[in-house]
Amino acid sequence: MNVVVAGAGYVGLTISVTLAYVGHDVACVDVDEGKIELLHSGKVPIFEPGLAAMLNLVRAGVRFTSCYRDAGVDQADVIFVSVGTPSLPNGTTDLRYVKAAAREIGRNLGPGLTVIVNKSTVPIGSGNLVNALVRDVFRTHNEDDPGDRYVVASSPEFLREGSALHDALYPDRIVVGAEDQRAVDVLSSLYRPILNQDFPAPEFLPRPYGLGAVPLVTTNLPSAELIKYAANCFLAVKIGYINEMAQLAERVGADVTQVARGMGLDSRIGPRFLRAGIGWGGSCFGKDSAALISTAEEYGLTSPIIQAAREINERQRRWVGERLLSELKTLKGRKIALLGLAFKPHTDDLRDAPALDIARRLLARGAQVSAHDPVALSRARREYPDLGVLYCDDALAAVREADALVLVTEWPEYRRLPWEKVKGLLRVPLLLDGRNFLPRHELERLGYRYVGVGR
Ligand code: NAD
Repeated sequence: MNVVVAGAGYVGLTISVTLAYVGHDVACVDVDEGKIELLHSGKVPIFEPGLAAMLNLVRAGVRFTSCYRDAGVDQADVIFVSVGTPSLPNGTTDLRYVKAAAREIGRNLGPGLTVIVNKSTVPIGSGNLVNALVRDVFRTHNEDDPGDRYVVASSPEFLREGSALHDALYPDRIVVGAEDQRAVDVLSSLYRPILNQDFPAPEFLPRPYGLGAVPLVTTNLPSAELIKYAANCFLAVKIGYINEMAQLAERVGADVTQVARGMGLDSRIGPRFLRAGIGWGGSCFGKDSAALISTAEEYGLTSPIIQAAREINERQRRWVGERLLSELKTLKGRKIALLGLAFKPHTDDLRDAPALDIARRLLARGAQVSAHDPVALSRARREYPDLGVLYCDDALAAVREADALVLVTEWPEYRRLPWEKVKGLLRVPLLLDGRNFLPRHELERLGYRYVGVGR
C-alpha cells in the first residue's frame, strides 16, 4: 500500500521503517527541513536502538521529504498523523501541529479513498476535528465536497522509547477506532503482516519466543482515543502507587523492593511498573495525564486518582533535594553529580526528564551540579545550554570532588563503573540511588553511604 507518515519523530520514524519493512511504500514528511536533510544523508536524528540498522535495510521502501505534495498525499491509501502533541501551560493539548498536518492533507487529497489515521496521542474528539479540517480545506481549494475521498480513524501508538522498533514489530495489540467499516478494512490489511506475524524477523530484532497472532482491537473513534490515555495513566498510577509505598516503607523500616516483589508475584497485580524510584518523566506520562484530567474537567468530572499520581511523582523529584539536604545539612556550595540525564535508559529524550527538574532544584538551593549521560549529553548541551549544569563527557569527571552522587537514569553502564575508584574521587562517599539499581551491599562494603528509594 502507499503510506504517508506525517512527522519524523520517535513515533513517525519508527512506524515509517516498520511499515516499509513489512512491504509497504512509505513517504515520511516532516516540516523540520534539518531533520529531513539528516535523513537524506543516511543519519538518524534521534537515538533509538536498531533504528539506523532498520533504516539501512528498508532504504528502497521509504523516502523522506518536507513537502506534502512530494510525499504523494494524493496517491496515499493511508496517511498517519504522528506529529507532536505537547501540553499547553493549562494542561490541555496543543493541537496546532495536528491541525497543520490535517490542512496539508486536505489541500493535497487525491481522488481515491484515503484513510487518515491519528497516531499522535490526541484528546477525545480529535478524530472529528481532523475530519472537519480536511473537509473545509478541501472545499476551499476545490469548490467541491470531498465526498468519499477520505475517512478518519484513530490507531494510537503504544511503543516505548528505547525499544520502539521491537514494540512496533511485535506489539501486544493494535487498536483501530473508526466509524466507517472501510477504514477498519484498509487498516486491517495494512497491519496484516504484523497481526499475523508472518514476516521474516530482522536478524538484529528476533521475534519474541512464542509470540503468536497479535490481537486487533476495533472500536469506535472515542474509545480508541480514550484507550491510549487510559493505558498511559494507568501505568503512571501504578508507578505512583509503588512510590507512595516507598515513602511509607522508608519511615516504617520496610524495603520497598521486597514489598514490590511480594506484591508483583500476585498474578492479579504483576511485577511490571512496580519499581520505586524518583519518578517517571518523558514525553508522554506527564502530558497525557494532564490532558486526561482536563478532558474530564470539560465534561464536569474530576480525576482524583490521576491527580494523585501526578502529585506523588512531583514529591519523588522533590525528595531528592530534601534527602540530600538532610544528609549534607546544607546544599550551598556543595557539588552534586548526576549520573544520567535522559528520562530513561536507551533513549536520548530529555522531555520532562527528572534529571533536569532535580538539577534546577539543586541549583536553586545553591548547589553546583555536574552531569553525565552516555547518550543524551549532546542533546542536553544543545537544548539546555543555560541550565547551569556542568556537562561532562566522562562519568569520572562528573563525580570528581562531588559531595554526593545521584543515580538518575539506570543506564546499564553505570553498574559497571569502577566504584572503588569513584569513591576515591568523591569528597563525600554519599550515593543516592534514585532507581534502586546499583549493587547496594557491594557499595556499602566499599564504604559508601548508600541511600535508595524506600529502603
Ligand atoms: P516528536 O517530537 O519526536 O516528533 C514529532 C515530529 O512532528 C517532529 O519531527 C516535528 O518536526 C514534526 N511535525 C510538526 N508539525 C508537523 C507537520 N505539520 N507536518 C509534518 N511534521 C510535523 O514526537 P513523538 O515522540 O514522535 O510523538 C508524536 C506523537 O506520538 C505524540 O502525540 C505523542 O504523544 C505520541 N506518542 C509518543 C510516544 C513516544 O514514546 N514518543 C509513544 C506513543 C505515542
